[in-house]
Amino acid sequence: MAYKKVEQYEDKITSGLIENYRESLELLGENPAREGLLKTPERIAKAMQFLTQGYHMNALDILNSARFHEDISEMIIVKDIELYSICEHHMLPFFGKAHIAYIPNGWITGLSKIARVVDVYSRRLQVQERLTTQILDAIKESLNPLGIAVVIEASHLCMMMRGVQKQNSVTTTSAFFGEFEKNETRSEFIRLIGSKLH
Ligand SMILES: [Zn+2]
Repeated sequence: MAYKKVEQYEDKITSGLIENYRESLELLGENPAREGLLKTPERIAKAMQFLTQGYHMNALDILNSARFHEDISEMIIVKDIELYSICEHHMLPFFGKAHIAYIPNGWITGLSKIARVVDVYSRRLQVQERLTTQILDAIKESLNPLGIAVVIEASHLCMMMRGVQKQNSVTTTSAFFGEFEKNETRSEFIRLIGSKLH
């Protein structure tokens, strides 16, 4: 499921961010001129551009690029999709797994495309709830399936590192559409992904 890391940085944005992060380091009481920090502003500038590249990606283009007609109506599940995002309240990472299922209505897409849609929306400043529904909405619009289920289980560093004493807590969010709004279908999906979600 892994795909190539794209390293594209805009010089103007990079240099602006470098200035910014240099100042931030100073404000935090650091000395940006000391050896270990010399290249840090540049590294953060590039890392942040990479981690927010989802703003420049289009989930529908990705799903539609491998969309084809298929007369199956079985549940298709992609589980344990690795997910790394950044919480928009603290700009600290949250990470975990996404489990996605859909029941086709004449159209399917490549399984790797489903995983890429997770990247498109997770590589932005996010809240886990919105990430969950954005993934569902994109699949709905592209494939018009009979049902969609999205479950995300994630740990939030803003909770874990800031002494809220929830170091082991995992936040679970879910969104269901169509067939998955029926108890029976939803239960089957939850059983198949092995989630503790009720
Ligand atoms: Zn947060």
